Amino acid sequence: MSSVVGKGAGPRMYGLMGELFPICRSITGEGVRETLRRVAVRLPLEIHEVPSGTQVLDWKVPDEWNIRDAYIARGDGSRVVDFRESNLHVVSYSEPVRGSMSLSELRSHLHTLPEQPDRIPYRTSYYSRTWGFCLAQRQLEALENGEYEVVVDSTLEPGSLTYGECVLHGEREDEVVLSTHVCHPSLANDNLSGIALLTELGRALAASPRVLTYRLLFVPGTIGSITWLARNEANVGRIVAGLVVACVGDSAPLTYKRSRRGDAAVDRAAAHVLEHLDGETRVLDFSPWGWDERQFNSPGFDLPVGCISRSRESEFDGYHSSADDLELVRPERLEEALAAVLEILDVIETDARYVNLAPRGEPQLGRRGLYRGSGGGEPSTEQLAMLWVLSQSDGAHSLLDVAELAGLRFSIVREAADSLRAAELLRQV
Ligand code: ZN
Repeated sequence: MSSVVGKGAGPRMYGLMGELFPICRSITGEGVRETLRRVAVRLPLEIHEVPSGTQVLDWKVPDEWNIRDAYIARGDGSRVVDFRESNLHVVSYSEPVRGSMSLSELRSHLHTLPEQPDRIPYRTSYYSRTWGFCLAQRQLEALENGEYEVVVDSTLEPGSLTYGECVLHGEREDEVVLSTHVCHPSLANDNLSGIALLTELGRALAASPRVLTYRLLFVPGTIGSITWLARNEANVGRIVAGLVVACVGDSAPLTYKRSRRGDAAVDRAAAHVLEHLDGETRVLDFSPWGWDERQFNSPGFDLPVGCISRSRESEFDGYHSSADDLELVRPERLEEALAAVLEILDVIETDARYVNLAPRGEPQLGRRGLYRGSGGGEPSTEQLAMLWVLSQSDGAHSLLDVAELAGLRFSIVREAADSLRAAELLRQV
């Protein structure tokens, strides 16, 4: 596979986000289907439907939610809160309502962010039946007392849960699983950035030769990954590494959260790649909070799945509100995150152990065209990388071990190994 980000990847990801932004997604329903259909134009995506009521691990697939319209209107029919202006205005999974009520009756169903009076909050009520509206505090303050017409034109009935899966087979059956959630309505960083990155990543992987098999999952948060795990329990033993991708478009430093194991191949690869990137990066230990890494890392599965993001959940200004819009995300930030993910996958895919075939004394590199020094001064980084690989290739150390020992970027060490192998000085174990 190639770890080079394709031309135009940033604008392409940002463009897909713009296309998906208006769609009203939730954990089930037409919004998720429409989103996956648009991803499927770009990737060989299989779309799965799992009926409501299906038992999945300790959970049940909920009824399917769909919404056509919702509003609060004055007596003259003018709308004071309107779903058509922003899909955040309705609490996700609101049951249908149609009636007239006073502002005081309505109040317990209204949600605002008093501290950020211009923002609409994002609220859900997936597993307890209720209804509600979200609005800016300023909008609420402008409402006069009196009677309002209240309509939530939704359906909440047996249907199915939808998720997307793209499998890109490699030479080996060992799998890398990459997952993102697809359940948020018009919110950009959380979670359209993850959908866009995974889509572009899938295109890049599909176009490259692959040793490992890659499985990309586009699932509604929590219930989606639980559903996937329940249906694929027999095959999770093939997973050798995984990444949950979320919130990758804002300006926070690239952040890797370790798997529960803490020392899996993906943990070492991600920590190494982030350490060698320009600018600030973060590596955090596992915690049982966050996104779908919680499910993949539950002790009954204990899969080697970390999480790549910029901001973590609830960490950025505007999180879960109308301020998480397309302005918050930059194409360059998406592109840097994609490059980091590709580099992590490249380490996982190409890390290997080698044996030095001329281990008694240093082999004469100049005779083989591998020594380009002028005779004096410091060795070049490439030269040094070759010496490190030769020195450590005893069959016990992998290239990532060598990179860590030498303090060199993995890609440089791997290129050195490629040159040495071409000169028949190395053999892979
Ligand atoms: Zn979220």
